Amino acid sequence: MANRFILDNIDWLVTVDKENQVIRNAALAIEAGKIVEISAAGTLAGGEVLDLRGKLVAPGLINCHTHLAMSLLRGWAEGVDLQGFLERVWAAEGAIMDAPTCELGTELGALEALLGGTTTTLDMYFNPESTHRAAVKAGLRHIAGPIFFDFPGLDGMEWSERISYAREWPAKLRDLGGAEVPLYLMPHSTYTDSPEHLRDVAQLAEEINASIHLHVSENLAENVDVKERYGKTPVEVLFDTGILTRHTVYGHGIHLNDHDLELTRGAGAAIAHCPGSNMKLGSGMINLARLEESGIQVGIGTDGCSSSNDLDMWQAMRMAAHVKAMTSSPAKVDAAKIFAAATVDAAKALGMEETIGSIEIGKRADLFAMDLRKPHLAPIHDIFALLVFAAGRGDVTDVWVDGDRVIQDGRSTRVDITDLLSRVEERVKVLEEMK
Ligand SMILES: [Zn+2]
Repeated sequence: MANRFILDNIDWLVTVDKENQVIRNAALAIEAGKIVEISAAGTLAGGEVLDLRGKLVAPGLINCHTHLAMSLLRGWAEGVDLQGFLERVWAAEGAIMDAPTCELGTELGALEALLGGTTTTLDMYFNPESTHRAAVKAGLRHIAGPIFFDFPGLDGMEWSERISYAREWPAKLRDLGGAEVPLYLMPHSTYTDSPEHLRDVAQLAEEINASIHLHVSENLAENVDVKERYGKTPVEVLFDTGILTRHTVYGHGIHLNDHDLELTRGAGAAIAHCPGSNMKLGSGMINLARLEESGIQVGIGTDGCSSSNDLDMWQAMRMAAHVKAMTSSPAKVDAAKIFAAATVDAAKALGMEETIGSIEIGKRADLFAMDLRKPHLAPIHDIFALLVFAAGRGDVTDVWVDGDRVIQDGRSTRVDITDLLSRVEERVKVLEEMK
Protein backbone atom coordinates (compact mmCIF):
# COMPACT_ATOMS: atom_id res chain seq x y z
CA MET A 1 0.00 0.00 0.00
CA ALA A 2 1.96 2.93 -1.34
CA ASN A 3 2.04 5.96 0.95
CA ARG A 4 -1.23 5.06 2.67
CA PHE A 5 -2.46 7.14 5.57
CA ILE A 6 -5.72 7.71 7.43
CA LEU A 7 -7.36 10.95 8.50
CA ASP A 8 -9.52 9.77 11.39
CA ASN A 9 -12.14 11.23 13.74
CA ILE A 10 -12.86 14.12 11.36
CA ASP A 11 -15.57 16.09 13.14
CA TRP A 12 -17.06 17.53 9.93
CA LEU A 13 -16.22 16.15 6.49
CA VAL A 14 -17.47 18.60 3.85
CA THR A 15 -17.30 16.62 0.62
CA VAL A 16 -18.92 19.00 -1.92
CA ASP A 17 -19.73 15.82 -3.86
CA LYS A 18 -22.76 15.47 -6.16
CA GLU A 19 -25.15 15.17 -3.18
CA ASN A 20 -23.22 17.82 -1.27
CA GLN A 21 -22.80 15.39 1.62
CA VAL A 22 -21.55 16.62 4.95
CA ILE A 23 -20.49 13.68 7.11
CA ARG A 24 -20.02 13.88 10.88
CA ASN A 25 -17.35 11.71 12.56
CA ALA A 26 -15.73 10.50 9.39
CA ALA A 27 -12.47 8.95 8.27
CA LEU A 28 -10.59 9.13 4.98
CA ALA A 29 -7.96 6.81 3.58
CA ILE A 30 -5.43 8.23 1.16
CA GLU A 31 -3.17 6.11 -0.95
CA ALA A 32 -0.57 7.23 -3.49
CA GLY A 33 -2.05 10.74 -3.37
CA LYS A 34 -5.58 9.59 -4.05
CA ILE A 35 -8.72 9.37 -1.90
CA VAL A 36 -9.46 5.64 -1.73
CA GLU A 37 -11.93 5.22 1.16
CA ILE A 38 -14.49 7.39 2.95
CA SER A 39 -15.95 5.82 6.08
CA ALA A 40 -17.10 6.27 9.67
CA ALA A 41 -14.53 7.32 12.29
CA GLY A 42 -12.49 4.45 13.70
CA THR A 43 -13.23 2.00 10.90
CA LEU A 44 -10.20 2.39 8.63
CA ALA A 45 -6.75 0.92 9.09
CA GLY A 46 -3.42 0.60 7.35
CA GLY A 47 -0.73 3.27 7.39
CA GLU A 48 -0.19 6.27 9.65
CA VAL A 49 -3.31 7.56 11.41
CA LEU A 50 -3.84 11.24 12.03
CA ASP A 51 -6.49 12.19 14.62
CA LEU A 52 -8.53 15.19 13.47
CA ARG A 53 -10.88 15.48 16.43
CA GLY A 54 -12.46 18.95 16.55
CA LYS A 55 -11.57 19.64 12.96
CA LEU A 56 -13.30 20.09 9.64
CA VAL A 57 -11.87 18.66 6.44
CA ALA A 58 -12.88 19.99 3.01
CA PRO A 59 -11.51 20.07 -0.54
CA GLY A 60 -8.63 22.51 -1.06
CA LEU A 61 -9.72 25.89 -2.42
CA ILE A 62 -9.12 26.65 -6.10
CA ASN A 63 -8.08 30.17 -7.02
CA CYS A 64 -9.27 30.65 -10.61
CA HIS A 65 -7.41 33.86 -11.41
CA THR A 66 -4.19 35.19 -9.96
CA HIS A 67 -0.69 36.46 -10.67
CA LEU A 68 1.33 34.98 -7.81
CA ALA A 69 4.63 36.69 -8.65
CA MET A 70 2.95 40.07 -8.25
CA SER A 71 2.84 39.41 -4.51
CA LEU A 72 6.08 41.41 -4.53
CA LEU A 73 4.01 44.46 -5.49
CA ARG A 74 1.53 44.21 -2.62
CA GLY A 75 0.52 47.76 -1.72
CA TRP A 76 2.41 49.28 -4.65
CA ALA A 77 -0.56 50.66 -6.63
CA GLU A 78 -3.07 52.24 -4.28
CA GLY A 79 -5.89 54.65 -5.09
CA VAL A 80 -6.00 53.83 -8.82
CA ASP A 81 -8.41 52.32 -11.34
CA LEU A 82 -7.42 49.53 -13.74
CA GLN A 83 -5.70 51.84 -16.22
CA GLY A 84 -3.82 53.71 -13.45
CA PHE A 85 -2.95 50.38 -11.90
CA LEU A 86 -1.49 49.02 -15.15
CA GLU A 87 0.63 52.14 -15.62
CA ARG A 88 2.07 52.01 -12.14
CA VAL A 89 2.55 48.25 -11.99
CA TRP A 90 4.11 47.87 -15.42
CA ALA A 91 6.78 50.43 -14.44
CA ALA A 92 7.68 48.52 -11.26
CA GLU A 93 7.65 45.20 -13.08
CA GLY A 94 10.06 46.61 -15.65
CA ALA A 95 12.45 47.49 -12.82
CA ILE A 96 12.57 44.15 -11.03
CA MET A 97 10.71 41.28 -12.65
CA ASP A 98 13.46 39.19 -14.22
CA ALA A 99 13.08 35.41 -14.20
CA PRO A 100 14.66 34.81 -10.73
CA THR A 101 12.43 37.55 -9.27
CA CYS A 102 9.33 35.96 -10.83
CA GLU A 103 10.39 32.77 -9.09
CA LEU A 104 10.86 34.56 -5.77
CA GLY A 105 7.50 36.35 -5.96
CA THR A 106 5.72 33.12 -6.84
CA GLU A 107 7.32 31.31 -3.91
CA LEU A 108 5.94 34.02 -1.64
CA GLY A 109 2.50 33.86 -3.27
CA ALA A 110 2.36 30.07 -3.32
CA LEU A 111 3.15 29.92 0.36
CA GLU A 112 0.50 32.51 1.21
CA ALA A 113 -2.05 30.57 -0.85
CA LEU A 114 -1.25 27.21 0.72
CA LEU A 115 -1.26 28.51 4.29
CA GLY A 116 -4.83 29.69 3.71
CA GLY A 117 -6.07 26.36 2.36
CA THR A 118 -5.73 27.06 -1.37
CA THR A 119 -4.35 24.03 -3.17
CA THR A 120 -4.69 25.00 -6.86
CA THR A 121 -4.13 28.29 -8.66
CA LEU A 122 -4.63 29.41 -12.24
CA ASP A 123 -1.63 31.71 -12.38
CA MET A 124 -0.89 34.03 -15.28
CA TYR A 125 2.56 35.58 -15.38
CA PHE A 126 5.75 36.01 -17.36
CA ASN A 127 8.45 33.35 -17.16
CA PRO A 128 6.07 30.46 -16.45
CA GLU A 129 8.94 28.01 -16.06
CA SER A 130 10.31 30.08 -13.17
CA THR A 131 6.91 30.61 -11.57
CA HIS A 132 6.03 26.94 -11.91
CA ARG A 133 9.33 25.81 -10.38
CA ALA A 134 8.71 27.99 -7.32
CA ALA A 135 5.10 26.92 -6.86
CA VAL A 136 5.94 23.23 -7.24
CA LYS A 137 8.69 23.67 -4.65
CA ALA A 138 6.16 25.11 -2.19
CA GLY A 139 3.83 22.19 -2.93
CA LEU A 140 1.01 23.94 -4.80
CA ARG A 141 -0.98 22.45 -7.70
CA HIS A 142 0.00 25.24 -10.07
CA ILE A 143 -1.37 25.98 -13.51
CA ALA A 144 1.06 28.22 -15.34
CA GLY A 145 1.23 28.79 -19.07
CA PRO A 146 2.95 30.79 -21.78
CA ILE A 147 1.81 34.43 -21.79
CA PHE A 148 1.12 36.45 -24.95
CA PHE A 149 1.41 40.19 -25.58
CA ASP A 150 1.70 41.99 -28.94
CA PHE A 151 4.78 43.78 -27.67
CA PRO A 152 7.91 42.25 -26.11
CA GLY A 153 7.06 42.33 -22.41
CA LEU A 154 9.29 41.74 -19.42
CA ASP A 155 10.59 38.58 -20.99
CA GLY A 156 11.62 40.49 -24.17
CA MET A 157 10.02 37.92 -26.47
CA GLU A 158 8.91 38.81 -30.00
CA TRP A 159 5.64 37.30 -31.23
CA SER A 160 7.23 34.45 -33.19
CA GLU A 161 9.29 33.48 -30.14
CA ARG A 162 6.14 33.40 -28.03
CA ILE A 163 4.53 30.96 -30.41
CA SER A 164 7.54 28.66 -30.59
CA TYR A 165 8.02 28.81 -26.82
CA ALA A 166 4.36 27.85 -26.34
CA ARG A 167 4.74 24.93 -28.70
CA GLU A 168 7.47 23.58 -26.41
CA TRP A 169 5.42 24.22 -23.27
CA PRO A 170 3.96 20.70 -22.88
CA ALA A 171 7.48 19.22 -22.79
CA LYS A 172 8.74 21.91 -20.42
CA LEU A 173 5.80 21.34 -18.07
CA ARG A 174 6.51 17.61 -17.98
CA ASP A 175 10.16 18.27 -17.10
CA LEU A 176 9.23 20.67 -14.31
CA GLY A 177 7.08 18.05 -12.55
CA GLY A 178 4.66 18.83 -9.76
CA ALA A 179 1.04 17.79 -9.28
CA GLU A 180 -0.83 17.12 -12.53
CA VAL A 181 -2.37 20.15 -14.25
CA PRO A 182 -3.94 20.83 -17.64
CA LEU A 183 -2.20 22.76 -20.43
CA TYR A 184 -3.08 26.43 -20.61
CA LEU A 185 -2.13 29.26 -22.98
CA MET A 186 -2.55 32.75 -21.53
CA PRO A 187 -2.93 35.68 -23.91
CA HIS A 188 -3.22 38.71 -21.62
CA SER A 189 -6.38 40.36 -23.07
CA THR A 190 -8.06 41.77 -26.16
CA TYR A 191 -6.50 45.18 -25.44
CA THR A 192 -2.93 43.85 -25.43
CA ASP A 193 -3.26 41.11 -28.07
CA SER A 194 -4.49 41.90 -31.60
CA PRO A 195 -7.20 39.78 -33.24
CA GLU A 196 -4.56 38.38 -35.63
CA HIS A 197 -2.43 37.28 -32.70
CA LEU A 198 -5.41 35.83 -30.84
CA ARG A 199 -6.12 33.78 -33.94
CA ASP A 200 -2.54 32.41 -33.79
CA VAL A 201 -3.06 31.43 -30.14
CA ALA A 202 -6.44 29.82 -30.90
CA GLN A 203 -4.84 27.72 -33.61
CA LEU A 204 -1.99 26.65 -31.37
CA ALA A 205 -4.38 25.80 -28.54
CA GLU A 206 -6.24 23.48 -30.85
CA GLU A 207 -2.98 21.95 -32.07
CA ILE A 208 -1.64 21.13 -28.59
CA ASN A 209 -5.07 20.68 -26.93
CA ALA A 210 -4.65 23.56 -24.50
CA SER A 211 -7.18 25.67 -22.60
CA ILE A 212 -7.15 29.48 -22.68
CA HIS A 213 -7.02 31.99 -19.86
CA LEU A 214 -7.24 35.74 -20.43
CA HIS A 215 -8.63 39.00 -18.97
CA VAL A 216 -12.06 39.89 -20.37
CA SER A 217 -14.23 43.00 -19.82
CA GLU A 218 -12.68 43.91 -16.49
CA ASN A 219 -13.88 47.52 -16.64
CA LEU A 220 -15.89 49.81 -18.87
CA ALA A 221 -12.89 51.75 -20.19
CA GLU A 222 -11.50 48.46 -21.51
CA ASN A 223 -14.76 47.79 -23.37
CA VAL A 224 -14.74 51.32 -24.85
CA ASP A 225 -11.11 50.92 -25.96
CA VAL A 226 -11.72 47.57 -27.65
CA LYS A 227 -14.95 48.84 -29.27
CA GLU A 228 -13.11 51.87 -30.69
CA ARG A 229 -10.40 49.66 -32.15
CA TYR A 230 -12.43 46.80 -33.54
CA GLY A 231 -16.09 47.86 -33.37
CA LYS A 232 -16.80 44.87 -31.11
CA THR A 233 -16.95 43.93 -27.45
CA PRO A 234 -14.01 41.92 -26.05
CA VAL A 235 -16.18 38.77 -26.04
CA GLU A 236 -17.14 39.34 -29.70
CA VAL A 237 -13.44 39.64 -30.52
CA LEU A 238 -12.83 36.30 -28.76
CA PHE A 239 -15.68 34.70 -30.66
CA ASP A 240 -14.53 36.02 -34.04
CA THR A 241 -10.92 34.93 -33.52
CA GLY A 242 -11.91 31.38 -32.57
CA ILE A 243 -10.40 31.66 -29.12
CA LEU A 244 -13.75 31.33 -27.38
CA THR A 245 -14.34 27.65 -26.61
CA ARG A 246 -15.48 25.57 -23.67
CA HIS A 247 -11.85 25.55 -22.59
CA THR A 248 -11.71 29.32 -22.14
CA VAL A 249 -11.62 30.95 -18.70
CA TYR A 250 -12.18 34.71 -18.44
CA GLY A 251 -10.47 36.65 -15.69
CA HIS A 252 -13.23 39.02 -14.38
CA GLY A 253 -15.87 39.14 -17.16
CA ILE A 254 -17.82 41.90 -15.40
CA HIS A 255 -19.23 44.06 -18.17
CA LEU A 256 -20.91 41.57 -20.47
CA ASN A 257 -24.01 42.48 -22.47
CA ASP A 258 -26.73 39.99 -23.42
CA HIS A 259 -24.98 39.06 -26.66
CA ASP A 260 -21.68 38.49 -24.78
CA LEU A 261 -23.49 36.24 -22.31
CA GLU A 262 -25.10 34.30 -25.14
CA LEU A 263 -21.73 33.78 -26.87
CA THR A 264 -20.07 32.80 -23.58
CA ARG A 265 -22.76 30.33 -22.65
CA GLY A 266 -22.93 28.95 -26.19
CA ALA A 267 -19.21 28.24 -26.13
CA GLY A 268 -19.34 26.78 -22.62
CA ALA A 269 -16.62 29.17 -21.40
CA ALA A 270 -16.17 29.94 -17.70
CA ILE A 271 -15.64 33.07 -15.62
CA ALA A 272 -13.15 33.62 -12.80
CA HIS A 273 -14.93 36.09 -10.51
CA CYS A 274 -12.54 38.28 -8.51
CA PRO A 275 -14.71 40.50 -6.31
CA GLY A 276 -11.87 41.89 -4.16
CA SER A 277 -9.87 43.21 -7.07
CA ASN A 278 -13.01 44.41 -8.88
CA MET A 279 -14.20 46.52 -5.96
CA LYS A 280 -10.75 47.84 -5.01
CA LEU A 281 -10.06 49.10 -8.54
CA GLY A 282 -13.65 50.33 -8.88
CA SER A 283 -13.98 48.07 -11.94
CA GLY A 284 -17.57 47.14 -11.20
CA MET A 285 -19.58 44.39 -9.57
CA ILE A 286 -20.40 41.18 -11.32
CA ASN A 287 -24.04 40.11 -11.33
CA LEU A 288 -23.53 36.53 -10.22
CA ALA A 289 -27.25 35.68 -10.23
CA ARG A 290 -27.48 36.79 -13.87
CA LEU A 291 -24.48 34.63 -14.81
CA GLU A 292 -25.99 31.62 -13.04
CA GLU A 293 -29.33 32.17 -14.78
CA SER A 294 -27.42 32.28 -18.07
CA GLY A 295 -25.91 28.88 -17.24
CA ILE A 296 -22.30 30.10 -17.20
CA GLN A 297 -19.80 28.26 -14.98
CA VAL A 298 -18.25 30.55 -12.38
CA GLY A 299 -15.21 30.01 -10.17
CA ILE A 300 -13.79 32.45 -7.63
CA GLY A 301 -10.36 34.07 -7.79
CA THR A 302 -8.38 36.69 -5.89
CA ASP A 303 -6.45 38.28 -8.78
CA GLY A 304 -2.86 39.29 -7.97
CA CYS A 305 -1.71 40.96 -4.75
CA SER A 306 -0.85 44.14 -6.65
CA SER A 307 -4.58 44.78 -7.09
CA SER A 308 -6.31 42.80 -4.35
CA ASN A 309 -3.44 42.92 -1.83
CA ASP A 310 -3.83 39.33 -0.71
CA LEU A 311 -4.57 35.81 -1.95
CA ASP A 312 -7.24 35.15 0.63
CA MET A 313 -9.91 32.94 -0.91
CA TRP A 314 -12.01 33.19 2.28
CA GLN A 315 -12.33 36.94 1.85
CA ALA A 316 -13.00 36.38 -1.85
CA MET A 317 -15.85 33.96 -1.06
CA ARG A 318 -17.35 36.36 1.44
CA MET A 319 -17.11 39.31 -0.94
CA ALA A 320 -18.64 37.21 -3.73
CA ALA A 321 -21.60 36.46 -1.46
CA HIS A 322 -22.00 40.12 -0.46
CA VAL A 323 -21.73 41.33 -4.05
CA LYS A 324 -24.37 38.81 -5.03
CA ALA A 325 -26.72 40.11 -2.34
CA MET A 326 -26.12 43.69 -3.48
CA THR A 327 -26.56 43.00 -7.20
CA SER A 328 -29.55 40.69 -6.87
CA SER A 329 -31.04 39.82 -3.49
CA PRO A 330 -29.92 38.16 -0.24
CA ALA A 331 -32.53 35.49 -1.03
CA LYS A 332 -30.36 34.44 -3.98
CA VAL A 333 -27.27 33.95 -1.82
CA ASP A 334 -26.69 30.32 -0.96
CA ALA A 335 -23.48 29.83 1.04
CA ALA A 336 -23.13 26.24 -0.19
CA LYS A 337 -23.18 27.50 -3.78
CA ILE A 338 -20.52 30.11 -2.94
CA PHE A 339 -18.31 27.47 -1.32
CA ALA A 340 -18.79 25.32 -4.45
CA ALA A 341 -17.56 28.25 -6.58
CA ALA A 342 -14.25 27.99 -4.70
CA THR A 343 -14.07 24.18 -4.92
CA VAL A 344 -16.06 21.88 -7.19
CA ASP A 345 -17.46 24.54 -9.53
CA ALA A 346 -14.01 26.09 -9.77
CA ALA A 347 -12.66 22.68 -10.79
CA LYS A 348 -15.35 22.49 -13.47
CA ALA A 349 -14.48 26.00 -14.66
CA LEU A 350 -10.86 24.92 -15.10
CA GLY A 351 -11.73 21.58 -16.72
CA MET A 352 -10.34 19.66 -13.72
CA GLU A 353 -13.50 18.15 -12.21
CA GLU A 354 -12.28 14.60 -12.85
CA THR A 355 -9.20 15.21 -10.70
CA ILE A 356 -9.97 17.71 -7.92
CA GLY A 357 -12.63 19.97 -6.38
CA SER A 358 -14.47 17.53 -4.11
CA ILE A 359 -13.81 14.71 -1.66
CA GLU A 360 -14.80 11.61 -3.60
CA ILE A 361 -13.18 8.24 -4.06
CA GLY A 362 -10.76 8.34 -6.95
CA LYS A 363 -10.04 12.06 -6.77
CA ARG A 364 -6.63 13.42 -5.83
CA ALA A 365 -6.18 14.20 -2.14
CA ASP A 366 -6.15 18.02 -2.23
CA LEU A 367 -7.59 18.90 1.17
CA PHE A 368 -7.42 21.27 4.07
CA ALA A 369 -8.17 20.78 7.75
CA MET A 370 -9.56 23.58 9.89
CA ASP A 371 -9.74 23.89 13.66
CA LEU A 372 -13.34 24.55 14.69
CA ARG A 373 -12.66 24.97 18.40
CA LYS A 374 -12.73 28.77 18.30
CA PRO A 375 -15.19 31.37 19.63
CA HIS A 376 -15.83 32.88 16.19
CA LEU A 377 -16.77 29.42 14.84
CA ALA A 378 -19.39 28.54 17.46
CA PRO A 379 -22.14 27.52 17.46
CA ILE A 380 -22.62 25.76 14.14
CA HIS A 381 -26.15 26.22 12.80
CA ASP A 382 -25.19 26.05 9.13
CA ILE A 383 -21.79 24.67 8.16
CA PHE A 384 -21.64 26.47 4.78
CA ALA A 385 -22.65 29.80 6.32
CA LEU A 386 -19.86 29.20 8.84
CA LEU A 387 -17.32 28.54 6.08
CA VAL A 388 -18.30 31.50 3.92
CA PHE A 389 -19.22 34.15 6.49
CA ALA A 390 -17.30 33.34 9.67
CA ALA A 391 -14.24 31.18 8.98
CA GLY A 392 -10.96 32.59 7.71
CA ARG A 393 -7.59 31.48 6.49
CA GLY A 394 -6.11 31.69 9.99
CA ASP A 395 -8.32 28.74 10.94
CA VAL A 396 -6.62 26.40 8.44
CA THR A 397 -4.15 24.11 10.18
CA ASP A 398 -3.12 21.49 7.63
CA VAL A 399 -3.07 21.23 3.86
CA TRP A 400 -2.49 18.26 1.59
CA VAL A 401 -1.81 18.49 -2.13
CA ASP A 402 -1.78 15.25 -4.07
CA GLY A 403 -1.66 13.52 -0.68
CA ASP A 404 1.46 15.43 0.45
CA ARG A 405 1.12 17.28 3.73
CA VAL A 406 2.52 20.60 2.54
CA ILE A 407 1.22 22.57 5.54
CA GLN A 408 1.44 20.96 8.95
CA ASP A 409 0.07 22.68 12.06
CA GLY A 410 0.11 26.04 10.26
CA ARG A 411 3.67 25.75 8.92
CA SER A 412 5.11 24.91 5.53
CA THR A 413 6.89 21.58 5.36
CA ARG A 414 8.71 22.76 2.22
CA VAL A 415 9.76 26.40 2.56
CA ASP A 416 11.81 28.19 5.22
CA ILE A 417 9.70 31.30 5.76
CA THR A 418 12.35 33.39 7.55
CA ASP A 419 14.79 32.85 4.71
CA LEU A 420 12.12 33.57 2.09
CA LEU A 421 11.06 36.83 3.75
CA SER A 422 14.63 38.10 3.93
CA ARG A 423 15.16 37.32 0.23
CA VAL A 424 11.96 39.21 -0.58
CA GLU A 425 12.94 42.22 1.50
CA GLU A 426 16.33 42.38 -0.17
CA ARG A 427 14.92 42.16 -3.71
CA VAL A 428 12.29 44.89 -3.41
CA LYS A 429 14.73 47.49 -1.97
CA VAL A 430 15.34 48.87 -5.44
CA LEU A 431 11.67 49.93 -5.66
CA GLU A 432 12.20 52.42 -2.82
CA GLU A 433 13.63 54.96 -5.26
CA MET A 434 10.59 54.67 -7.53
CA LYS A 435 8.01 55.52 -4.87
ZN1 LIG B 1 -5.54 39.64 -13.52
